[in-house]
Amino acid sequence: MTVLLRASEVVKRYPAGRAGAVHAVNGVSLDVRAGETLGVVGESGCGKSTLGRCLVRLTDVTSGRVEFDGQDITALGARRLRPVRAGLQLIFQDPYASLNPRRRAGDIVAEPLKVHRQGSARAIRDRVAELFEVVGLSAAHLDRYPHEFSGGQRQRIGIARALATRPRLIVADEPVSALDVSVQAQVLNLFADLQDEFGLTYVFIAHDLGVVRHVSDRIAVMYLGEVVELADAEALYAAPAHPYTETLLSAVPEIDDGSDPAPRERIVLTGDVPNPSDRPAGCAFHPRCPYARDLCRTERPPLTEAAPGRLSACHFPLVGPRGSGG
Ligand code: SF4
Repeated sequence: MTVLLRASEVVKRYPAGRAGAVHAVNGVSLDVRAGETLGVVGESGCGKSTLGRCLVRLTDVTSGRVEFDGQDITALGARRLRPVRAGLQLIFQDPYASLNPRRRAGDIVAEPLKVHRQGSARAIRDRVAELFEVVGLSAAHLDRYPHEFSGGQRQRIGIARALATRPRLIVADEPVSALDVSVQAQVLNLFADLQDEFGLTYVFIAHDLGVVRHVSDRIAVMYLGEVVELADAEALYAAPAHPYTETLLSAVPEIDDGSDPAPRERIVLTGDVPNPSDRPAGCAFHPRCPYARDLCRTERPPLTEAAPGRLSACHFPLVGPRGSGG
């Protein structure tokens, strides 16, 4: 499958006074394949949102490289970045905060078309009306202000705005976590329909595995700025390779239909999430890992193949020939 976006050893550091620096993203390498949905999952503060911003060049990387459609976009200046931006869009977590409250919904969606000079005023008006229809809103909504919409409708406006420039890849940063559960399903269905209709590629960021389960082809699990597992979604849900993924998965509620003789046991982690400016030696997860051994405290495990198609950053992965977690 064609690689549409490639991140190579991406690092994003923020200065943190005397403490030195916070490594929000710490050497992430991954490919996003054309037409797929790559879920990126991890606890709050793991660096997943920062990674998403680096991928669309909303944030500059400290080091490493991001390629979109074969072009290195890491250091492009504003003028050369503009046409790239049209093909790469970000949808934000909080639809209300991301929409200008003083602008009408139609103007908000028209803005990227004006920035990218995509057509006459008439053509832009027609395109905006078409986009409203595509996301399940109507022409009657064009002149309303953001506060006049429900949360789900506001996220639809955010999606219409992202679609305006006909992007090929959309990074969706927790796009349903601020919505009621009943509305979440509708918005997730909309994402799936748009992907089918327009051949979109998604990077779908979420803090729990339950949300991305039904939308992701592959999943990258992040911990303390690093990818610790990368696998096909089905294989990962059936049998996680990394102990941290096992923990996240144990927190996903299961539907007890009597078909599973051994329901998953909830694993409660002890210890706090380490401070990203003071990363533990060896495996960053070792202070909380129930399977930690001596080697884990001194040697950092690289992200390597634990089993065919399964990458895991663990000395003793839970699947494959190298170990069984114990
Ligand atoms: Fe746990 Fe060791 Fe694997 Fe880290 S390397 S996840 S501490 S078993």
